[in-house]
Amino acid sequence: MIASAAASTAPAATLQASTPAEPPIRDLPSPNWDARPDAAPVDMLILHYTGMQSAQAALDRLRDPAARVSSHYVVDEDGAVWRLVAEQRRAWHAGVSHWRGHATLNDRSVGIEIVNPGHEWGYRPFPALQMAAVCDLCLAILGRHPIPARNVVGHSDVAPDRKQDPGELFDWSGLAASGVGLWPGPTAELGLVGDVPGALRAIGYDDGDPAATLRAFQRHWLPDAVTGHADAATQARLHAVLAAMA
Ligand SMILES: [Zn+2]
Repeated sequence: MIASAAASTAPAATLQASTPAEPPIRDLPSPNWDARPDAAPVDMLILHYTGMQSAQAALDRLRDPAARVSSHYVVDEDGAVWRLVAEQRRAWHAGVSHWRGHATLNDRSVGIEIVNPGHEWGYRPFPALQMAAVCDLCLAILGRHPIPARNVVGHSDVAPDRKQDPGELFDWSGLAASGVGLWPGPTAELGLVGDVPGALRAIGYDDGDPAATLRAFQRHWLPDAVTGHADAATQARLHAVLAAMA
């Protein structure tokens, strides 16, 4: 448990801070990385949950050469932050993935694994301390790379057929209130979106299983109703997100 040189014992900045200090970060290098392609900009931030029974199990796996997976950061439930891979390197967290016409998103993204057992092992709310650390870390990353709000997404957004993380308990709304990602307010006057597949595509989703893609959208932007159905509330929300991304 070695703090970085820049570590401070001060509590994490509040969620409202506009220029928060980067949270104390512990380096715990993983061998699972390679070079980013030369021309790839870093313009995406992809958030995950670990989906394992403990933080230690996740850290072990993300540093196991045989597993061939990693992330740039891991944030524990108590707000502790580990750096496994330097941001200028390519970490291996997204797998087969698509967003806004791009694929192999590891090339262009920073990945954060957020400790939570996930849907398989007992999905539970993300504690406030953990979310505050995630928020500060995201703000620091956004200060280093030109990542637009519409490119701050979950693993399920970029791999809807395979992934559910970070899931419907994740506080995207709170993050957006602090300047991380996109969360449109109520925009009832916009009405329903007509072309649901077209709206999903315009937001950034790849063409895939329609219900899985709708569930991914709902996990992110309509977390109280993850149904996979394009009901009126979902169509209105699609319209609101689309308008906010314009
Ligand atoms: Zn993931």
